[in-house]
Amino acid sequence: MSERFFPDAMPPPLVDGTTLPWWQAAAEHRLVVQECSQCSHTQFPPSPICSECHSPERGWRALSGLGKVYTYTVVYRPIAAGQTLPFIVAVISLEGSGGVRLISNLVKVSPEEIEIGMEVKVIWEDMSETLSIPRFERR
Ligand SMILES: [Zn+2]
Repeated sequence: MSERFFPDAMPPPLVDGTTLPWWQAAAEHRLVVQECSQCSHTQFPPSPICSECHSPERGWRALSGLGKVYTYTVVYRPIAAGQTLPFIVAVISLEGSGGVRLISNLVKVSPEEIEIGMEVKVIWEDMSETLSIPRFERR
């Protein structure tokens, strides 16, 4: 199991047929983004059709897990019992993703240290044997 940053009481993500492949990749610690097989448009969250050309033909582009902080906020109210405060919610611009940004958490960094544009990399938090959540730490 990985290093833990959030308690088991965190609400789990809702998974459906469209998002299942993304969560399966995450469970293998692979960060991917949905890519249209017709026009190569990338999108997140996963969708049944391409938001650009409406094609239902989709694949998955593997990402490096590198990115930059696009914006962030510091949260001082817990959303789960036993949560360490404050925690940081950040929007991460993902390298090689075609412009996709992912809402996640920054870990191992204090709020005073964060800067817009800070270079980060993904770190996986295993919440269970089948659920891994991407968080980000400073590079
Ligand atoms: Zn498309």
